[in-house]
Amino acid sequence: MDFLKPRYTPMSRRRKIYEGKAKILYEGPEPATLIQHFKDDATAFNAKKHEIVDGKGVLNNRISEYVFQRLNEIGVPTHFIRRLNMREQLIREVEIIPLEVVVRNVAAGSMATRLGIEEGTQLPRSIIEFYYKNDQLGDPMVSEEHITAFGWATTHEIDDIIALATRVNDFLSGLFLGIGIRLVDFKIECGRLWENDMMRIVLADEISPDTCRLWDIKTNEKLDKDRFRRDLGGLIEAYTDVARRLGIMAENEPPQGRGPVLVQ
Ligand code: UDP
Repeated sequence: MDFLKPRYTPMSRRRKIYEGKAKILYEGPEPATLIQHFKDDATAFNAKKHEIVDGKGVLNNRISEYVFQRLNEIGVPTHFIRRLNMREQLIREVEIIPLEVVVRNVAAGSMATRLGIEEGTQLPRSIIEFYYKNDQLGDPMVSEEHITAFGWATTHEIDDIIALATRVNDFLSGLFLGIGIRLVDFKIECGRLWENDMMRIVLADEISPDTCRLWDIKTNEKLDKDRFRRDLGGLIEAYTDVARRLGIMAENEPPQGRGPVLVQ
């Protein structure tokens, strides 16, 4: 029944819209859609550190699919439509707001360094920060004043972004707590989705161990990209552990997805 399946242009002939550090966006099969392709590239410190980690893209595709699906189900609007294959997902085309929105529950990383707070300190309440997405400038932190003055988003849009980020944080904190993981912090990106004359802010990009800090509740073991940033090793093992705990990867399934596939 192969002829009934939608046909996708072979990867080599697809029009590339954008290539980032860890993902590629291709033109989608229908108008207003794109294909988001997860690469195995791991980068840190504004791409000064770069390695290929076999299987990372496959894991992030699966983990991000799971998280976005769960968020869609509780009415958090996202760009996610469906996963297409091991490395790709179909998404709605949105106008990306040039901000990295970071939500923190526990002091870590740049905040711990900047403010001299010991890593692992629970914050008095969740804190939301904005960074201007600009690699040349190293994604500088900005305030709502900068965002509105330079026209990156309106006051109303910032309110929507904060509401979205808060809902995502509450949902993800519970989701991860249920599988013995502490959600320390994470980064999201938002986009404008146009439907006729209506525009709404939706969650875009990805949510994966590349964009979150995830610590084991009992051991504080890092199950995220800090394993790469801090040369701790065992990145694939950690990401696979997250996928297994979420119940999205069978016990012995190889992360590379090169294992035998049952054809039905
Ligand atoms: N983060 C991200 N992309 C970035 C910068 C940060 O996904 O370009 C995530 C990072 O994984 C962490 C959170 O945002 O979960 C906060 O990162 P932080 O500001 O501490 O920066 P870092 O320590 O990564 O430099």
